[in-house]
Parts: sequence; structure tokens; C-alpha cells
Amino acid sequence: MTRVVVLSGAGLSAESGLGTFRDAGGIWQKYDLEEVATPEGFARNPALVHEFYNARRANCLAARPNAAHHALAALQQRLGDRVTLVTQNIDDLLERAGAREVIHMHGQVMRAQCAHCGHRWDAPAVMDPSDPCPACEHPATRPDIVWFGEIPYHMDAIGAALAEAELFVAIGTSGSVYPAAGFVREAHINGARKLELNLEPSEGSALFDDTRLGPATEIVPLWVAEMLAAEG
Ligand code: NAD
Repeated sequence: MTRVVVLSGAGLSAESGLGTFRDAGGIWQKYDLEEVATPEGFARNPALVHEFYNARRANCLAARPNAAHHALAALQQRLGDRVTLVTQNIDDLLERAGAREVIHMHGQVMRAQCAHCGHRWDAPAVMDPSDPCPACEHPATRPDIVWFGEIPYHMDAIGAALAEAELFVAIGTSGSVYPAAGFVREAHINGARKLELNLEPSEGSALFDDTRLGPATEIVPLWVAEMLAAEG
């Protein structure tokens, strides 16, 4: 009856066609992160930031969940609330594979929020700086994304899940963005076993008990099959 926390990163969605930060020539290299992924960048040029996330939203809508998303959804369906899915990804591919209550610590590209009143709603395909908030009507709408310099969402719930976890699994994350990169230490202090599933070793690889390397669509379904066989 193992309790598991799974932390996923951009590598989980890479084979669905959504590029990681590190993809050579990828979209993230064409934009300056300071301009499109910080509150200061949004204050300077909201039109550019909306353009960037409108493109991310279009890519997300065009993408399909891959075998790794489906395997994690199946694991959750079998083990129920003993599995906590935490993701740094802003896409909705885990949900579209059937996962429920995914903790999106960096927000969701398919959601919008009002910087004036805090109201949140499903984002339209294309957002614009002049869009009024549906609740307070201020033209202060932004994508519901946690930008660099902002506090990630649901840190209390994640901390509580890590405190109870017997197994912590990091999938497709480089271990370079905090606080997510610190979860492996937290899991270690709490006595959990730590497993890394990644294409290449992450920066914190030495902190894991075990690292399995390969594409997520291959190694995640294999690990889930092992878990389900062990659970009987
Ligand atoms: P990252 O780009 O820093 O690292 C990606 C990791 O995935 C690397 O360790 C790489 O080896 C691994 N990887 C690449 N292809 C893989 C594959 N096919 N199978 C398994 N692993 C693979 O990503 P990160 O650690 O998630 O960085 C965090 C930031 O990136 C977050 O803030 C997140 O919001 C943002 N991001 C999200 C998306 C998305 O929502 N799909 C895409 C790009 C970046």
C-alpha cells in the first residue's frame, strides 16, 4: 500500500511535441525568459507575453497525451489517493489522459486569471491585454501561470503529500528550477525512497536511490507496470 508522489517536468510532454526548456532551437530559445515569464516582463510588454502564451496554448491544444501520461493516469486510477501527481508542466495532457486532481504548481496555460481581483476562469484560445475580467471587468487579465519570482501554487498540499510519501518519483525534470528541485531532499528527510526517470541524469541525480534513463514513453509505462504488479 505504498504512498507515492510523482513530480513531472517538461520531459514528460516532450514526446507529445511540447518542447522542453533545453531543446536546441526550440521555442524557449527564441524568447527571453525575462520578457515572457516574469511579472516585470508582463508589466513592460503584456502583448508580447500574451502572444507567447497564446502560442503555448495552441501547441497544447494540438498535442496529444503520450504513453507516459496514460500510464500515470492508470496508476492513479488503480491506487487512488495513494498517488499524488504534482507537475511543473502548464499543459493539460495528464488530465486528458484521464488523471484527476493534478497539482499544477506552475499554473495552467488553459486557465486565465485577473491580476486585479484574482478571479480565475478557462482561458479563451487567444488572450489580449485589452480583455476585461469576466468578474470585475478590469482589463488586467493574464495567463494563470506562475512566473519566475512568483510563489508556486499548492505548496502546503505538496508538503503534506511529501511528508507521507514512501516513494518519490521525479519524471523528465532537469532539477534546475526551485522549489521543485528541492522535493527530492524533502522526500529523503521524510524517509522516502527516491527514483528518477529521465532521458539524462538531472542536476540532483546523486540524491536519488535509483535512476533509470530513457524516453518517458518507454520507461514510465515499464515502471507503472512494475508498481501495479507489486500491488497485486
Ligand atoms: P527542463 O526543460 O529544465 O528539463 C527537461 C528534462 O526532461 C531534462 O532533464 C531532460 O533530460 C528531460 N527529457 C527531455 N526529453 C525527455 C523524454 N523524452 N523523456 C524523459 N525525459 C526527457 O524542464 P523542467 O525541469 O520541467 O523545468 C521546469 C520548467 O519548465 C517549469 O517551470 C515548466 O513550467 C517549464 N516548461 C513546461 C513545459 C510544459 O508544460 N510542457 C514545457 C517546457 C518548459
